[in-house]
Amino acid sequence: MATATEEVRRVVFDSREASAMVEELRASFGSGKTRSYEWRASQLNKLEKVTEYHEAEIIEALRSDLSKPEFESFVQEIGMLKSSCKLALRQLKSWMKPEKAKTSITTFPSSAEIVSEPLGVVLIISAWNYPFLLSLDPVVGAIAAGNAVVLKPSELAPATSKLLARLLGEYMDSSSVRVIEGGVAETTALLEQKWDKICYTGNGRVGRIVMASAAKHLTPVLLELGGKCPVVVDSGINLQVASRRIIVGKWGCNNGQACISPDHILTTKDFAPILVDALKQELDSFYGKNPLQSKDLSRIVNSNHYARLTKLLDEDKVSGKIVHGGERDISNLRIAPTILLDVPQDSLIMQEEIFGPLLPIVTVDKVEDSFDLINSGSKPLAAYLFTNDKKLKDQFVRSVSAGGLVINDTTIHLAVPSLPFGGVGESGMGAYHGKFSFEAFSHKKAVVYRGFSGDASVRYPPYTKGKLSLLKALVGGSILGIIRALFGWS
Ligand code: NAD
Repeated sequence: MATATEEVRRVVFDSREASAMVEELRASFGSGKTRSYEWRASQLNKLEKVTEYHEAEIIEALRSDLSKPEFESFVQEIGMLKSSCKLALRQLKSWMKPEKAKTSITTFPSSAEIVSEPLGVVLIISAWNYPFLLSLDPVVGAIAAGNAVVLKPSELAPATSKLLARLLGEYMDSSSVRVIEGGVAETTALLEQKWDKICYTGNGRVGRIVMASAAKHLTPVLLELGGKCPVVVDSGINLQVASRRIIVGKWGCNNGQACISPDHILTTKDFAPILVDALKQELDSFYGKNPLQSKDLSRIVNSNHYARLTKLLDEDKVSGKIVHGGERDISNLRIAPTILLDVPQDSLIMQEEIFGPLLPIVTVDKVEDSFDLINSGSKPLAAYLFTNDKKLKDQFVRSVSAGGLVINDTTIHLAVPSLPFGGVGESGMGAYHGKFSFEAFSHKKAVVYRGFSGDASVRYPPYTKGKLSLLKALVGGSILGIIRALFGWS
């Protein structure tokens, strides 16, 4: 007889159920149905319908999980996903088309092509901060590439997770697309299975767990992680425009709870007070004198993250450095946009990713010194520079390593589908968006076609000096050498 604990355990999704589900999906993938253009297009169409017919419910779920303003929910989640679906549907045929490749003299006569084939059954684990977009955007790529997919949304955005499970259950082909809700236990059960690719969005600690699980099966991973995204601000710029673009990238992106939101500013000692004044002025005009009441700012996701952020703010060497904001409301999990000036490098706030509405400003003697400071830490997911100096821009692009860079704005590279989106080093590996999403979930298979004519005996034993000279001449690319070898001249 099963004990009570065993009964409880059976209610949650465990490794046995995960294994049975993967087996079903593998059989579906094995049948070949997900490979056809028709299946891929029909599933992408259905995803687009989800965004079209259920906009109000999605906005409501995001409001419930994060108090996300409708404007941000539409522009940064629903609209972005809709665009991804439309682009994939428009480009799918051309993405699927084998790509002709050049052949070389050594395989003459032959032709070659690169065939994109689906990887198989893929797992997508997503995060809470953009719980709709970050769940479905990789799904678009996985489906476009012809894979069967399991999506595991974040348990920290429960309303969106539940809605995704319901809507994908209603709209998508359940033989090949599934949603499994849950937290660590369910994700662990999923990670025990053999997948053909795992796409994980979240923090580096769990990224390491995902990669270690994937290694057991030699499964490739796409890791979309985070880091401390710096903004370097030079003098001699349009300060109002720069301030607005910093603010909208920070507080206008889920109140700073975004992987590419500015984490901190680096600027010169002289310019810092001028920048602080401009930021204060624009913040007031955007969110009013009482930002805790603003409907245009998301709340902090939960009390754990609230406690994490207030701990950063309350550290002794940091609490006196607040030059703007700092107000908080624990009952509504709200923290006002907060600017800090000259926090020490060894403070907690400068040691870990902030992921919230706090923006420290670090000062340097010369603006160029910022680049060394950035390069002395982990490679960020994004880095930003505001300047009018061409030489400084060139130096920034050449010397700063990050997932992506933007000059004179923040976060907008995410909205350019012809650019890959992903990290480097600690901020992740692999990339997606646009065609890169299709490629992230495809294998590029090399195919060479030959006929039976032109069978050169030079490649077959017995190996002779003459054959070797000919091959050396071929590899060396010297016409004279080839003629010499063909005629047996030394
Ligand atoms: P999270 O807490 O939602 O966790 C992400 C996923 O990992 C969830 O689905 C969760 O269930 C799973 N998970 C948590 N603990 C686990 C464990 N022990 N074993 C297996 N699975 C586990 O999200 P988070 O990590 O707090 O997200 C914030 C981080 O993600 C930040 O570092 C941010 O920069 C990064 N991020 C990156 C991107 C990007 O596109 N590069 C986007 C959003 C967030």
